[in-house]
Amino acid sequence: MKRLIFLGPPGAGKGTQAQLLAASLNIPHISTGDILRAAIANSTPLGAKAQSYMDRGELVPDELILDLIQERLSQPDTQRGWILDGFPRNVSQASFLTDLLAQLNQTCDYAIDLEVPDEVLIERLLLRGRKDDNRETISRRLEVYREETAPVIGFYKDRSALKSINGNRHLDEVAQSLQDLLQTPSLT
Ligand code: AMP
Repeated sequence: MKRLIFLGPPGAGKGTQAQLLAASLNIPHISTGDILRAAIANSTPLGAKAQSYMDRGELVPDELILDLIQERLSQPDTQRGWILDGFPRNVSQASFLTDLLAQLNQTCDYAIDLEVPDEVLIERLLLRGRKDDNRETISRRLEVYREETAPVIGFYKDRSALKSINGNRHLDEVAQSLQDLLQTPSLT
């Protein structure tokens, strides 16, 4: 059973790696970005509220995200474990998660930070071509990452839960490092 948080800037490969690892561990991959994009596609009230923030590369307000994650982590499939991708995105979300997990009698095994240099991130995001992958929004998302999300790395480092992985490699090599990390005897 594994409970993992994927950290790292936009374009680091969090989504891809989280999805692969979740499939191999047979646990749910919970991406707040995917949930929000689905809400927009389905024209739900949440989607309507979130869209303008996402289009601008800003974080969606905590009040929308915290309810969403609380509800998702209360669903029965999460009993097998989970991988969070794109949450927590700031320190207040991280402390909310700590309290929520305590309530649920759960602890996170690791927060995994995928490290990739900025110039590589911009290149990757421009190639990906999602709606919020234009130059202006990308640069705002990287700024928001540095200001709000990077401190979350320190939050988990202080709690000795942080593992850093070099994400500036071929997809398969990064995936292998993640598998190796989880097979380390101290973790089992
Ligand atoms: P992502 O798919 O993780 O890159 O997220 C895409 C966008 O969704 C972000 O730029 C934010 O606008 C929004 N978003 C996703 N997760 C969160 C979160 N945990 N808190 C606030 N906004 C979020």
